[in-house]
Amino acid sequence: MNNCLIKGGRVIDPARNLDEVADVWILDGRIKAVEPNLSPPSDPFLIEAHNQWVCPGLIDIHVHLREPGQEYKEDLESGLTAAVAGGFTAVLAMPNTSPPLDQAPLIAGLRAKAQSLPGARLYLAAAMTRGRLGQELTEYQDLRLAGAKAVTDDGSWVSDSQVMRRVLDYAKVCSLPALSHAQDPLLSKGGAIYEGRMSTRLGLPGIPAQAEEIAVFRDIALVELTGNPVHICHLSTAKAVNLIRAAKAKGLPVTAETAPHYLFLTDEAVGDYDSRAKMNPPLGTIEDQKALREGLLDGTITIIASDHAPHSSLEKEVEFIEAAFGIIGLETSLPLILELTREINLTPSLLVELMSRNPAKLLGLPGGTLTPGGPADITVIDPELEFVYEAAKGYSKSRNTPFEGRKFKGRAVLTLVEGEIRYRYPTLAS
Ligand SMILES: [Zn+2]
Repeated sequence: MNNCLIKGGRVIDPARNLDEVADVWILDGRIKAVEPNLSPPSDPFLIEAHNQWVCPGLIDIHVHLREPGQEYKEDLESGLTAAVAGGFTAVLAMPNTSPPLDQAPLIAGLRAKAQSLPGARLYLAAAMTRGRLGQELTEYQDLRLAGAKAVTDDGSWVSDSQVMRRVLDYAKVCSLPALSHAQDPLLSKGGAIYEGRMSTRLGLPGIPAQAEEIAVFRDIALVELTGNPVHICHLSTAKAVNLIRAAKAKGLPVTAETAPHYLFLTDEAVGDYDSRAKMNPPLGTIEDQKALREGLLDGTITIIASDHAPHSSLEKEVEFIEAAFGIIGLETSLPLILELTREINLTPSLLVELMSRNPAKLLGLPGGTLTPGGPADITVIDPELEFVYEAAKGYSKSRNTPFEGRKFKGRAVLTLVEGEIRYRYPTLAS
């Protein structure tokens, strides 16, 4: 496999403004050449990609792999395997594990373990503050040297603005992107669902859209104060989209991601207390959904990440108010966004920007392009392949998803990491 040719696919590489039928030649784990009708001198292993898209490997910058501490929900091996099955060649795992990833040896240990695992590349975000308590900063320089690619207290917002100001300063000095879970913890406290018509009808405590708006506003204000960048995780409301758009118009270094479920579902999905639609931030209204879609098209939101959050039935199949927040997403993320390429003006090239190029840029990762000389991290997509999603047949240990039984058209059929086939869709002849 150290010499391989992906033949006749539609090569989509926005970093090089490329969208044309071409061959991709891989030699020793790296991209050797991308050109039409290549004929390498030595006999390469052939992969036929006629009518398929050949893209730089997709990168999911927001996943929860639950290791250490909650391996019954997911572990590195199952999570990284689910990732390649979903078309991702790399993921960034969040540090809200047990214990949280707030010290260099924890980061180094997980990275070492992942080296020998199949599946996607593992990158790790370290906790922004000790114990994720929002008070004392962690040792960013040590964490970076141990391999951390970002800092975040995901799951919680650093609500002390003095602390967050120092986070942004220190993260900038240490060249680590700061990722903010923007949600006012007091305003959202006790809430189970988006505050609105549904919360009233179901008699459930609400989380108002303003909980996100307030936090995003504060984070942007600190960017203005410090001049340092911030990245807002899992944007879910129209109000927050407007704030990000305005901040960008001012030239502030603010970036944002959203998750596929906010682009397809609303709080109506909670229906009759269905905990599979319980997530944080909560699913909003159709206006929120529209604003998020517009945000993708006009460049306000530049990254799509799954917020893959596995939970066992013990945490999910309980009373709605008691159920854990979150859904799995690694294996449905790409199929959902492929639906968007047919529903709205989201081009395949923009899909690759949102799911590969921009994630790589934000975190300073290799990949995100098929430029010769770079790693052969490649996702081959069949945009026409129809399948019915069944979580039980997936690779995650958990099954908490509102997309169970959904009919999809389009998915990853081949995922290569460093030129090695890490996933192949079973019906493909080898
Ligand atoms: Zn979060």
